[in-house]
Amino acid sequence: MPDVIKLLPDSVANQIAAGEVIQRPASAVKELLENAVDAGAGNIQLIVSDGGKTLIQVVDNGTGMSEKDALLCFERHATSKIGKAGDLFSIRTMGFRGEALASMAAIARVEIRTRTSGSDLGTEVTVEASKLKSQKACNCPVGTSISVKNLFFNTPARRNFLKSDNIEKRHILQDFQRITIAWPGIEFKYFQNGQITHHLYKGNLKQRIVNLFGNNYNQRLVPIEEKTQIVNISGFIGKPEYAKKTRGEQFIFINNRFVRSPYLSHAIEHAYDGLVPDNSHPSYFIFLLTDPDQIDVNVHPAKTEVKFRDEKYIYQILKTAARHSLGSHNISPSLDFERETAFDDIPAPAKGQPVKPPAVSINPDYNPFKKHGGDSLRSRANPKHWEQLYPAGSAASQGAQYTISPEWEEAGDGKQEFRLIQLHSRYILSPVKSGVMIIDQQRAHERILYEKLSATAGKGNPGSQQLLFPENIKLNEADSEVLRDIISTVKSMGFGLYELGRDTFVVDSIPSGMPEEINLQEVVEGIVDSFQINRPELRDDPRQNVIRSMAKRFAVHHGKVLTGQEMTALVNDLFACDIPQYTPAGKPVLQIISTTELSERFK
Ligand code: ADP
Ligand code: MG
Repeated sequence: MPDVIKLLPDSVANQIAAGEVIQRPASAVKELLENAVDAGAGNIQLIVSDGGKTLIQVVDNGTGMSEKDALLCFERHATSKIGKAGDLFSIRTMGFRGEALASMAAIARVEIRTRTSGSDLGTEVTVEASKLKSQKACNCPVGTSISVKNLFFNTPARRNFLKSDNIEKRHILQDFQRITIAWPGIEFKYFQNGQITHHLYKGNLKQRIVNLFGNNYNQRLVPIEEKTQIVNISGFIGKPEYAKKTRGEQFIFINNRFVRSPYLSHAIEHAYDGLVPDNSHPSYFIFLLTDPDQIDVNVHPAKTEVKFRDEKYIYQILKTAARHSLGSHNISPSLDFERETAFDDIPAPAKGQPVKPPAVSINPDYNPFKKHGGDSLRSRANPKHWEQLYPAGSAASQGAQYTISPEWEEAGDGKQEFRLIQLHSRYILSPVKSGVMIIDQQRAHERILYEKLSATAGKGNPGSQQLLFPENIKLNEADSEVLRDIISTVKSMGFGLYELGRDTFVVDSIPSGMPEEINLQEVVEGIVDSFQINRPELRDDPRQNVIRSMAKRFAVHHGKVLTGQEMTALVNDLFACDIPQYTPAGKPVLQIISTTELSERFK
């Protein structure tokens, strides 16, 4: 029998290994940026074309490489950063595996131009599919420029796996954010298709965050700061009222390395219990500094997951620190911090022992949304009370008969308003022939606007109402990306929304039939938010998603006090709808408690 086992040619082995390190353009961006940081650069430029598919280039003013190193760096396991295997987190540089450049060179064309301060001439090296193409002396500044061209050109399966330029750009942006937030002392520039989209100046962390996400982050954040024997915590966390429906700006860094830790994220979100509505997520930018031997060594370096030795302890510290920070900045006045355990009192737990949560007393009557006035999106007008009176399941909507034409229609004009009662700025109550009808005002309005918008959607010329004064909207970079994707659909609905400049949009008109008394910044942010939330469900129908999101965000909020006239109009419009009973997402708009059910209760 002939021998059947063959050794894979080096180039193929390299390609396979490369796939582990470089999954998409963003992974190359991350590796190149980290190398530049490791090289001590004070100034780093990222240049990307076509979502990184044709070009990713990073230019730095770091140490540069010698002629020999410029060749050696392409060898697998060539690294200047470590001599022996060690713990990921005990290493102060970002990379140390010596795999990144070898991987990129296996699946792309990589060009390096580099010079050290000790030499007058630089070196230029080109490698393609792991083969040295050229090497010569060149004139270049001190530092390094590495271009990665035509990523995956020789691995079609990988190339076909790439998503649209916009999606790849979003991934790149994510990695760019993670690195630039960790290194505010370095100046960064980011060019996309020849245009500068970010210029991040040297500064402190707060300045970096504002530089990245917009000026309004200045007042949205409070500092978090705590030092214990095991961990130092610093950074910023978002004020509760700015929590978002999507988990947008949530960053945790351990020893300056971005990590993903659902467990630690949970600790932070837990600190906001009672301060933000369910399904809302605060922003945070948190840095943990700890002795490397606190961290489990069994983590794959390419992954961002992390595990602490004493996870429960870190959890408590982090949560208490976040609580402290919210409390000491007068955000959660009901928290009694006098009685809270001091940090030094939290003993480092013995192995296997459960950790006692620190005592925080919360005033159950405190409503953090109250101070924002009656029309806050996040206002929750004590719905519990109502639910206790009318337990879920008692409503007659499950197949019960009811008359859709409300009784007040017959009561003549004068009495209409009198018959509608607003409850907790949230529900509208009305007697109907079959009993009592309870309408959720926000959902009713959502249904009405949805049908209005759907009706316009098919037409070439949607109506719109001009604004007296066009209004500027400032979004963060990630939200802007999403808005750019959907802006033509949004415009086709009669919403006059245009991009002005970097992450700034202007609204000059809104679709006809939408309420005029709105906070446009909130509405636009909300539309983007909803669009993201609906995305998994409405993947194949982005237009439907836009319509639903607009209906939801233009709708009157819970907490808005309605006049009799407004209530009448709302109820009239609702029953002019094709499907008044449900929101576009299938949630009930109204419930009817039948007279039979009522008499049953009075037995
Ligand atoms: P690692 O970063 O894990 O060491 P890489 O493959 O990313 O592995 O890089 C290999 C080596 O090339 C690095 O250890 C470093 O010596 C050198 N190198 C890479 N990028 C740069 C750069 N921008 N400036 C200076 N040296 C660099
Ligand atoms: Mg590296």
